[in-house]
Amino acid sequence: MPVALYDTWSRTLRAFTPIQADHVGLYCCGPTVYDHAHIGNLRTYVFEDVLRRVLALNGYTVRHVVNITDVGHLVSDADEGEDKMEKGSRRTGESAWAIAERYTAAFMNDWRALNLLEPTVWCRATDHIAEQIDFIAELERKGYTYRTIDGIYFDTSKQDEYGFLARLDVAGLQAGKRVALGEKRHATDFALWKFSPPDTLRQMEWDSPWGRGFPGWHIECSAMSAKYLGPWFDIHCGGEDHIAVHHSNEIAQTQARHGTRLANFWMHGHFLTLDTGKMSKSGGDFVRLRTLTGRGVDPLAYRYLCLSAHYRSSLRFNLDALDAAQSALDRLRRVYVQWPEGGMPDTHSVARFKVEVDQDLNLPRALAVLWDVVRSDLPAATRRATVDRFDAVLGFRLADWKKDVSAIPAIPVDIALLADERERARAAKDWNEADRLRDQLRAEGWHVEDSSSGQALRRLDKTQ
Ligand code: AMP
Ligand code: ZN
Repeated sequence: MPVALYDTWSRTLRAFTPIQADHVGLYCCGPTVYDHAHIGNLRTYVFEDVLRRVLALNGYTVRHVVNITDVGHLVSDADEGEDKMEKGSRRTGESAWAIAERYTAAFMNDWRALNLLEPTVWCRATDHIAEQIDFIAELERKGYTYRTIDGIYFDTSKQDEYGFLARLDVAGLQAGKRVALGEKRHATDFALWKFSPPDTLRQMEWDSPWGRGFPGWHIECSAMSAKYLGPWFDIHCGGEDHIAVHHSNEIAQTQARHGTRLANFWMHGHFLTLDTGKMSKSGGDFVRLRTLTGRGVDPLAYRYLCLSAHYRSSLRFNLDALDAAQSALDRLRRVYVQWPEGGMPDTHSVARFKVEVDQDLNLPRALAVLWDVVRSDLPAATRRATVDRFDAVLGFRLADWKKDVSAIPAIPVDIALLADERERARAAKDWNEADRLRDQLRAEGWHVEDSSSGQALRRLDKTQ
């Protein structure tokens, strides 16, 4: 049975066959590095990692390309507002380049903590300005562009199929936006190159045939995927928010230049949402992996939580669900370490597991197969060898696990979230908010100390 994957382009489950025998080209839109990744972003990378592992399980060699957006992503996806990098620079007082460096490194740490396989290629937008300029020049030569006061735009009216991926009602959008368009000709047109504003000095800008400026956000993915995977490859992934704008625009550009829609399959992970209750009280709408892990939750427990929901259903994050995932992982580790090595996998269970993951990555059902094996009366060495096979997809690093879970420090997650929020307030130099959060922590029984390396938490004893 071949792998079946849900393709957003056709809105159907399709049997997967690679364009080139045994090789799969996989492009995943990466982070915009003006701030930390939140656990929602990370859910999408976990889904993509599992996809890659399932492809490998089926014998394919995967060439996995992930970009780093370090320029050009404006605050609004519709090319309005400030560049997120320059905004991040004003927030923290560091240069846009330093911010990109710092948050890229932080992102890579999260990546490794979640045991995501290293991509074949990481590519930064700012390292590929020449490729992006070439791409735009070619679009211009083919008659797809026009100039406005602030940049070079892609004319989406030149394509009958524009917006098909999102089933966009292009005429409806146009009617709704007519007044607010400015010099843009159509509501769905988008920037390929933005000019540096005449009165402000940008930190990130380059010369181009059209004047000094910087690339629009979408062009980097069309240019870099073509460079590393060719203009027609197997699978393109991202979060569901990318369907309507970013991926529709990547397709428009590549269609215009190369006559392809980039990828044979378009796959999208659904969102992680936050529970209203406790989480929003203390964490706002921004929770980092470090918020959870730095204070005692295992990053792989978050991975477990992600796998417990299908990637095409939204997942509501809350602390109870995270606790349950951590307990399940702990239970699994405790039994696993007792099983002796040297067995052979149970072929029937391996086949059952494979049926589930091959069916559009049905990880919740694959986890159920895992627990069936754990509870089965198969010999212990057989169970170990079988679960090892599963772990090649699940990525829980069971064979490496040595730590005693009872030794995990007990800082409650809601306290960790408050502390994290305070760290962010301090980074933004919002001292009133930072003080308010310190008082709130104190009321909850925790003292926070600041030092050059960050803040440390200490439990107050009852007399303080
Ligand atoms: P960004 O850093 O904003 O460019 O986003 C990085 C990736 O995270 C993209 O694939 C987004 O589609 C995805 N993403 C953003 N928010 C969420 C969320 N709440 N849940 C899951 N994925 C998300
Ligand atoms: Zn992209």
